[in-house]
Amino acid sequence: MAKTFRTTRRKHDNAPFQKATHCIFCGAPQMNGEHIFSRWSHKFLPSRSMKKYDVARVDAKPTQSDRFLIKRTGDIRDWKVQSVCETNCNNGWMRRVENLARPIMIPLIDRDALLRGETTRVLPHQQKIIATWAVLKAMVAEFDAHSWATTHHSQRKYLMKRLTPPAHGWAVWIGAYLRVSWPTHWGSSPFLYLSPKQEARRGANLAATFYNSHSSTQVIGSLFIHVLRSPAHDYIETWKFSPPDGGSIFRIWPPSDVSISWPGTIMTDRDADYVATDLYDDLLRKVAPLIKESIESASTARSGATPFWRWRV
Ligand SMILES: [Zn+2]
Repeated sequence: MAKTFRTTRRKHDNAPFQKATHCIFCGAPQMNGEHIFSRWSHKFLPSRSMKKYDVARVDAKPTQSDRFLIKRTGDIRDWKVQSVCETNCNNGWMRRVENLARPIMIPLIDRDALLRGETTRVLPHQQKIIATWAVLKAMVAEFDAHSWATTHHSQRKYLMKRLTPPAHGWAVWIGAYLRVSWPTHWGSSPFLYLSPKQEARRGANLAATFYNSHSSTQVIGSLFIHVLRSPAHDYIETWKFSPPDGGSIFRIWPPSDVSISWPGTIMTDRDADYVATDLYDDLLRKVAPLIKESIESASTARSGATPFWRWRV
């Protein structure tokens, strides 16, 4: 298949990102914008008066802050990523994913239902459908100008053909969350994983010029979704969260055969922030001794190269 994207640079700050040139799933030349927050979920999102929303991208520039929020203007409902075709994908298999997910997700998204104390069970086959929906959105959002495409094309193709997330290298969690003031609706943190072998080949140079792994968070109404993907399969598939306020965060991918008693303990702002950033913080702890070296190497990196964290497991 022909290449479906090209790496280009943002106008305002020259930062690199991948821009889709063809449908990122089937390769068709015609493209449309895909909503990251599906139309059917819009009535559960904060009021229309919301003019700004936050998208966190961790660029992990050691010479600057660890992470920063990108303030996007406009309503989050209108956020679309030009990346998929209308005929084969948007109106085809992706519509089927939306139709399957909608009735399962709405009771979890509905904040009023949560406040009324309504409970439900999320069965294993329903967990799989939510995971598929979440992974689909995560794959699409990677082509936003503020993100980075870390997913290999074969994995997008796998999702399109089987309507299920790839068997390895992906992990998805969900939790019931009542927002008070935590600002993130979508957060995205790309990072670079290198195997010990690759690590050895690179020697002491900590400046990297691409990412291959990703952590992303999506909050829709009272549903908190967290998606991890990386070639470090074991690391992310066995990752466990311990939210500080004891909120429940349920892993739904890799698939489980246990049904979830929803909502469990409702996540607080602190829990949400912890889940969104914990793996990244772990990486920082792991590479902390290398930070100084990284800063030095970043300052000598060739012009245009972005110094990223590298991490080892
Ligand atoms: Zn397509």
